[in-house]
Amino acid sequence: MPDSAVHVRKGQRYIDVIKDRNVVAVRIDNTLHDLRDVADGDVDAVPVSIYSEDGLQILRHSAAHLLANAVTNLYPDALPNTGPVVENGFYYDFDMKPIGEEDLAKIEDEMHRIQKENVPIEKIVYPKDELIRIFARNPYKLRIIEDNVSDASSVYRQGNFVDLCLGPHVPSTGYIRAFKLLNIASAVYKYDESKTLVRIYGTAFPDEKSLKEYLHNLEEAKRRDHRKILSEMDLAVFNSEWAPGFPMYTQYGQMIRKELLAYMDQMNRKNGWLDVWTPHVFRDTIWKQSGHYAKYRPNMYLFTLPDGDSYGIKPMNCPGHIAIFSRRKYSYRDLPVRYSEPGTVYRYEKSGEVGGLTRPRAFTQDDGHAFLRMDQIGEEIRTLLNMVRETFTTLFGNIELSFDLSVIDRDHPENYLVSYVCRNCGNRIEGARGTDIECPVCHSHDLEADLSVWDNATEQLRGALRSMGIEYKEYPGEAAFYGPKIDVHVKDAIGRMWQLSTIQLDFFMPVNFGLTYTNSDGKEDRVVMVHRAIYGSYERVLAILLEHYAGKLPTWLTPIQAYVIPISGSFDDYARHVHEELMKNGIRSELDTSQDTVSKKIKLIHPYRPSYIVVVGAKEKENESVTARNREGKSKTYGLSEFISVLKKEIEERKVDQAF
Ligand SMILES: [Zn+2]
Ligand SMILES: [Zn+2]
Ligand SMILES: [Zn+2]
Repeated sequence: MPDSAVHVRKGQRYIDVIKDRNVVAVRIDNTLHDLRDVADGDVDAVPVSIYSEDGLQILRHSAAHLLANAVTNLYPDALPNTGPVVENGFYYDFDMKPIGEEDLAKIEDEMHRIQKENVPIEKIVYPKDELIRIFARNPYKLRIIEDNVSDASSVYRQGNFVDLCLGPHVPSTGYIRAFKLLNIASAVYKYDESKTLVRIYGTAFPDEKSLKEYLHNLEEAKRRDHRKILSEMDLAVFNSEWAPGFPMYTQYGQMIRKELLAYMDQMNRKNGWLDVWTPHVFRDTIWKQSGHYAKYRPNMYLFTLPDGDSYGIKPMNCPGHIAIFSRRKYSYRDLPVRYSEPGTVYRYEKSGEVGGLTRPRAFTQDDGHAFLRMDQIGEEIRTLLNMVRETFTTLFGNIELSFDLSVIDRDHPENYLVSYVCRNCGNRIEGARGTDIECPVCHSHDLEADLSVWDNATEQLRGALRSMGIEYKEYPGEAAFYGPKIDVHVKDAIGRMWQLSTIQLDFFMPVNFGLTYTNSDGKEDRVVMVHRAIYGSYERVLAILLEHYAGKLPTWLTPIQAYVIPISGSFDDYARHVHEELMKNGIRSELDTSQDTVSKKIKLIHPYRPSYIVVVGAKEKENESVTARNREGKSKTYGLSEFISVLKKEIEERKVDQAF
């Protein structure tokens, strides 16, 4: 892949100097240029590969033009509006008679025809009056010209098709090697809501292989959609009338949650986290003090009782844990104090997802708050990073994790809660935020930001990550105003990244609630708070588990671990005996003695994704054995007690893979 600059002399076209067909544009001083452009001086041009982020954008934008070219060829009355690049592809909006998905193949064929002709794509700059003449027949383009063009603009021409556009574009249609139209939607025209446009979505990739892989993953994502799996496995119920956006769990869904809860409970205990409980409702006084009322109010469920008292349902668990922490005094030897709670929070969001678990309006965080001394941050973060690694290895096996460290933007201390020192009188102001802060002692505005607390804490976060050999990306300016944080993402079976854990330092709440401890000199020092969630929330981790495993969860998480089927009514008694033995040993078993045939029973239970289907007949009854069928449809015969111990081991050790 080209990455070094190429020297181009004045008057030369870039395309005549750079012959690599994987190069789609050049970059000069951070501006992208078409390959067909002529250098207006001696320049060093950096080739932009079709495999780079910019190159892919150019390719997809050119594919959008190709789409508009094909549509206007096939439907001469169609009026193109705009065709931007979007995540993973592009679309183009047309004012045209509605078409169906079945028409996409025809449009694609026309696109392929134009692509094969390798039609040159040329930029031409026209004065405004000429543009108005060129697009006289298209009111949508005229509107864009009217709004955006002052005296001249470029158009891109490929054969008979012309589009108003700033570019850049690939030099000819032959460059658009791998593309696919995906679907049709309708879009409201933003300047006239009575007008509905036909929106055609598509995508393009540098090569066929990448396109195929993307389309395959798209199909996989549909197949793995957790909303579909939730209903197939009968895990959760959504009722948009009675509880819009609030999931309810069936007995099966709750079985998975309880396993996840038990695991996190064990993880917390092992690492010194004390389990607490806080109510779901607090008086609004706590939300006013915490700052949630001021900042978070539109997302809170608030109500006032007849006696005038106002309450808020908790959108976060932190104030409750602070209320518990602040019940007593602490010395430096008492810290850290760590409280954890599976805390259900309620957040009103307009765009709340209905029928899914990735953005519900009620969810349960595996929340935790640690109260520390400044010098304890590094050690605490190391422990938490270990919890993260251990948890996701248990849940997902060998999975790729990525770590993001969000830190302060040192050039803009006014965006953060930092300390200041007065240059006039030397007074120190702890924890202020904003511009033009005044010294309360001498009223001077000549203050110097002191970032030492941030620097110290951030260095401890970096040190913790480094000492564990974790590669991480650092994002300056992405920290919250109250402290730096680490986010953890997991990469699922089809390559999607999901954010799960957050480890967030907080210098604000301790100031806000006056949380201190007595240091070794007998003076009061501010504690540092850590907010952390390993799963993120039970809803989110369940959604991701279901999508990653396509519902075929590890046995310890599977609601139906064994599904017992007698091959005929004569073996009902033995089947019941097997079922009861499994249940006695803590294995979640179900018995099917209905009148259906064995194959029908297997077919009916299939969507529930049981771990093992246990079939018993004459041979099994005679030998006190079972024939177990795994998820791949492979069968194996065990003695009953052997099967029980194999299954118990698989469950107790929380194995990712089945026993056979
Ligand atoms: Zn364009
Ligand atoms: Zn918190
Ligand atoms: Zn001062």
